[in-house]
Amino acid sequence: MSFIAEKFGEISPSQTLAITAAAKKMREEGKDIASFGAGEPDLDTPQHIKDAAIEALQNGATKYTPATGIPELKEAIQEKFLLENQIEYDISQISVNCGAKHSCYNAILATCDAEDEVIIPAPYWTSYPEMVRLAGAEPYIVETKKENGWKITPEEFEDAISGRTRMLILNSPGNPTGAVYTKEELEALVGVAVSEDVLILSDEIYEKLVYGDTKHVSVAALSEEAKNLTITINGHSKVYAMTGWRLGYTAAPPEIAKAISIIQSHTTSNPTSFAQYGGIAALQGDQSMISDMVDEYDMRRQYMMSRLQNISNVDIVEPQGAFYFLVDTSKMGLNSMNLTEKLLSRYEVAAVPGIAFGHDHSIRLSYATGLDIIKKGLDRFEEFCLAH
Ligand SMILES: *Cc1c(COP(=O)(O)O)cnc(C)c1O
Repeated sequence: MSFIAEKFGEISPSQTLAITAAAKKMREEGKDIASFGAGEPDLDTPQHIKDAAIEALQNGATKYTPATGIPELKEAIQEKFLLENQIEYDISQISVNCGAKHSCYNAILATCDAEDEVIIPAPYWTSYPEMVRLAGAEPYIVETKKENGWKITPEEFEDAISGRTRMLILNSPGNPTGAVYTKEELEALVGVAVSEDVLILSDEIYEKLVYGDTKHVSVAALSEEAKNLTITINGHSKVYAMTGWRLGYTAAPPEIAKAISIIQSHTTSNPTSFAQYGGIAALQGDQSMISDMVDEYDMRRQYMMSRLQNISNVDIVEPQGAFYFLVDTSKMGLNSMNLTEKLLSRYEVAAVPGIAFGHDHSIRLSYATGLDIIKKGLDRFEEFCLAH
């Protein structure tokens, strides 16, 4: 007999791990792997943020804090929402969590029951469907179209709704597609959500990583009705290069915020005490590193665009945010695992197979890596494509 919980039987291990492990092994054998696998910034956390955490640690911030975070950090987040996103939240609606991944999981646990369906537009961030299953609910995947910029339309959303639908997960700017929803597109989706009484989980972790004229719009900022059915999630990982610190945050309608706070108080308790002080420094300190970072990513993005557009058997949609290209490889007729395995073993290029995002005829190339590696990797990828 197995002692493993039944609900766990359906959870897949991370499909990106096999490739990562193989790439690591090849590197140890002395191979010069060009990796597009990165899911995190290639920069270090800014010094003033580290200093604030070190100072807090030296000054005794070594004990439990309130479960949903210290008031000073929650106030900084409240102010951020007001000034940058034009959303007015009460402090009691905000919780600080152990990374935005944790924020998403808390929010799903707090709102979804066993029979509930959660609509997830594909290609999706790999963890959403598994989080929904862990919560005992059911993911309902809607395949978006490349022609629509990999964005769910209001018609597709409406068609996917059943009597069991509880929530729609939106991630704009999106991982792995780089798609960014416009204000009008979000208003149309909110219109459907309001009339059908469906919650929206809005994962806005890449909000500041948008390029050109693209603007990020927060779902909850659209109207009072939108705010009343939206759970807004954000965090420090991507924008301040703080992935290891584990700081994410959630703002939700009062009843949901309360449930999240209860869940957190019985599971993780507070996010790490001294990390929270780094979190304050990040939000209140110098923000100029962000525009420098965006300029650097944009330069890499444009370089990759120009190269990928000239490769005949792949298709791309210009990513407007985040730091990924989802490259459509349908014309090569290989599934994404086979393709990434071949690409790695014969051409020494690491990429993430699209199957991890619910799209088996694509691969994800991250540009959170230096231009030298990007150039080398694309030279090899081009050769691979020519041969297939
Ligand atoms: C990276 C990422 C997160 C969460 O990151 P944390 O490190 O847990 O804060 C959440 N959503 C998406 C889409 C991501 O790519």
